[in-house]
Amino acid sequence: MKKIILLLSVLCIAAVSNAQDIKTICNNINNLNTAILNGSIKRQDAAGQFKTLIDQLKKTGYKASSSGWVFPLKGYRSSAIGGTNGNGYSDKGYNFLDGNKHAAHPAHDIFINDRNQDCLDDRTHQPVDVLVVDDGIVIACTNEWDPSSSLRGGKFIWVYHPAQNFFTYYAHNQAIFVKPGDEIKQGQKIAEVGRTGYNAYKKRSPTHLHFSAFHLVNDLPVPYNPYLQLKKAKTI
Ligand SMILES: [Zn+2]
Repeated sequence: MKKIILLLSVLCIAAVSNAQDIKTICNNINNLNTAILNGSIKRQDAAGQFKTLIDQLKKTGYKASSSGWVFPLKGYRSSAIGGTNGNGYSDKGYNFLDGNKHAAHPAHDIFINDRNQDCLDDRTHQPVDVLVVDDGIVIACTNEWDPSSSLRGGKFIWVYHPAQNFFTYYAHNQAIFVKPGDEIKQGQKIAEVGRTGYNAYKKRSPTHLHFSAFHLVNDLPVPYNPYLQLKKAKTI
């Protein structure tokens, strides 16, 4: 009996310290991401630190299942994706290490019905929920943004999906409900659609979620076009 209790307490301590590890690692990734966005870290240093931190995160043994995606906007379908057949996506010249000065638009803008730009759906008069497409861990986010800020993503969220080694990014949110280190489940509400970000805040920009997906290539996030995954995604 004593042995069982000892074993159980060891397992409990292991689980708690694993969770703390994930939190610490993700807070470090969040700080690194802020430095990359501000351009306050050398590219080579940033690349090295990013690799180290993702390796640490993989070693925590976090498990997630994966079985296709959930569409990232509740109550909306792929018809809400901007452009024609997903042609709003362009990744030529994009580099993660360029931070806020990055080129191209490696993303799909997914528009909500919001003619008066109050961030409420014109049909339901409610905010529109942003849902995470698959199980994952929040590795960076910010819930602060000021209209005088030059940051383009506004209130954004980065999620790492260890099962298939990819990342997703959700920008321009009005409010976010997660923090670095949170382990989140597919379809979980992580934010509400908004107009935060240097360009998204301007009147000429219809209210939308800016959504990106990235593979890990040479230890850094490299964008790929998730259009077909979004088309096939389950809608909630
Ligand atoms: Zn966009």
